[in-house]
Amino acid sequence: MKASIENKVVLVTGGNSGIGRATAIKFAKEGAKVAIAARRSAEGQETVDMIRRAGTEGLFVQTDVSAAIEVEAMVDETVTAFGRLDFAFNNAAAPEEGTLAGMTLHECLEDDWDRIMAVNLKGVWLCMKYEISQMLKQGAGVIVNTSSGAGLMGVASRPAYSASKHGVVGLTKSAALQYAAKGIRINAVCPGMIETPRLHAAFRQKPELEVWAVSKEPIGRLGTSEEVAEAVAWLCSDAASFITGVALPVDGGIVAGMQ
Ligand code: NAP
Repeated sequence: MKASIENKVVLVTGGNSGIGRATAIKFAKEGAKVAIAARRSAEGQETVDMIRRAGTEGLFVQTDVSAAIEVEAMVDETVTAFGRLDFAFNNAAAPEEGTLAGMTLHECLEDDWDRIMAVNLKGVWLCMKYEISQMLKQGAGVIVNTSSGAGLMGVASRPAYSASKHGVVGLTKSAALQYAAKGIRINAVCPGMIETPRLHAAFRQKPELEVWAVSKEPIGRLGTSEEVAEAVAWLCSDAASFITGVALPVDGGIVAGMQ
């Protein structure tokens, strides 16, 4: 895998935390130049320090992925710094304060709905819009979007989140078809329950969730960010050169069906 990632340029949104940070570090260890984007700059700089300690170049671009002008600048700054854009991991998603532990559809506020859709779905579209424009100039590129197990099946407690993540799968498959003959591969990963700051925040809100979460994982434990990072790096590498339009569960078996 290293040969097809070394010296490549990758952009990771949500790269200052959780799955995004682990993926940025995975690419750094494989020798890629890594740009990360998110809103919180102190945490962003921490990831850049980790990338540099792994022996490669890193860049933080402060970005709100729901704002077109910021997403355009994010891609421009990456290309200005590193000369091209080979891989993009569109992974940022809105935190769900007050809703992580459960939300009914009829009580969901319009503002919450709009914010979740603006970051999780419009944000992925905006990222792809500017990334693909760059990749078309190069005649090559690979994109991986973060959906979720909740993008492949319904989740009773999280209708807006689940709808946004189903949207990411539809966008991924449609874009994969549109650009397959242009040298651009586009896939999604669908994580199960992965130990990250996001999940720990949910456990703090509702401690019984942790036991429930583990009980739902056929493998019998939560996943790690590093396990998702491995799948993302593999999808970007030449090892996955004939794979496009796939929504790949990285989930310990949750979406395989009932136990
Ligand atoms: P996390 O640690 O909370 O990370 C979320 C990231 O998104 C942070 O870097 C955050 O940075 C960034 N972000 C949020 N809003 C943003 C915005 N408007 N613009 C730019 N960046 C923004 O969560 P995680 O668990 O690693 O989740 C990463 C992805 O995996 C998400 O798409 C999530 O839906 C998905 N996922 C996670 C799990 C799980 O169990 N952990 C399961 C399925 C899917 P800032 O706040 O600094 O902007």
